[in-house]
Amino acid sequence: MYELTVHGTPPGAEAEEAAQRGLNRIGAPQGITVMFSDNFVAEVRRQTGNPGYGGDRGAGVVAAKTIKRPEQGSLIIVNSSETRRLDVPELERLLAHEGGHALLHERGDHVASQHRSLVDYEWQWIMLCLGGLAIEEYRIEGALQAIGYDPGGTVQGNEHLEDSLVHLNAEVIWSLIDPDDTSPATMSRRVMTAQDVFTKILAYMAPYAGHDDAADPATLTPAGARHWRDYVGPLWQERRKVYQRIPDVRTGISAEDYTAVLRDGYALEMKQLHRIGFEPKGTDERPEFWRVATDARCTERHEAATHDAGS
Ligand SMILES: [Zn+2]
Repeated sequence: MYELTVHGTPPGAEAEEAAQRGLNRIGAPQGITVMFSDNFVAEVRRQTGNPGYGGDRGAGVVAAKTIKRPEQGSLIIVNSSETRRLDVPELERLLAHEGGHALLHERGDHVASQHRSLVDYEWQWIMLCLGGLAIEEYRIEGALQAIGYDPGGTVQGNEHLEDSLVHLNAEVIWSLIDPDDTSPATMSRRVMTAQDVFTKILAYMAPYAGHDDAADPATLTPAGARHWRDYVGPLWQERRKVYQRIPDVRTGISAEDYTAVLRDGYALEMKQLHRIGFEPKGTDERPEFWRVATDARCTERHEAATHDAGS
């Protein structure tokens, strides 16, 4: 049995049992605590000491967050106001997923400050983390797929994938033409944030490629298919190949092998960044990206964004 605590409205016995089941099925470490909280964002801010934490992610809201604690087991904070809308199997799945993060925390095969020395510059570190975090999601979702869970809500069908492609394209275009600020620093921050959100979707999709209910790039609308060809294309197969070499979260990775995994993830995300249309300039330590997508390509993207916004 895992320790459950409640701050606010009790989730009910069915929900508590579902949480226990999810954690059991993924094999979450004993010693973790699950907190059902009505004040999710405030609780995460308090527990992480990060006053800037926000609960919104692109098109969605975060349902739970797992926090590593140095002296105790990980703390899983569940966003009660969001999870009230989930049915029992969805809640079980959510806790199985978060239990996967707790497994990574316990073993240490996750991206952390000791990996900062693998790269020189701050923008490289951000890209290394971006790749590493997507791999964590992939490894967790890979385990959930292997033990029989259906695809997660965000990659069931194509709706969310469509939305995130539209969002990615709009962000890329907007970062180039925003009348308020198109400085390289702002542009690069926006592009990295958009890539971070988007790669998580790809990481969630990858283990379920070919599954009947899962998002399928081959059946996107014409508008979505345009964005997919433009921003992903053959990189999808390449991403899947890189990911398939990495064991799912139930199997630990040695520190040495994990370094290699992070380097692979970094190389992949640099290719993705290039496909999105940017390249870091020179050896500047500041994360300044410069556009490499051609004018013609950007015009086409801009027209597509205008079409997306109007339809
Ligand atoms: Zn996750």
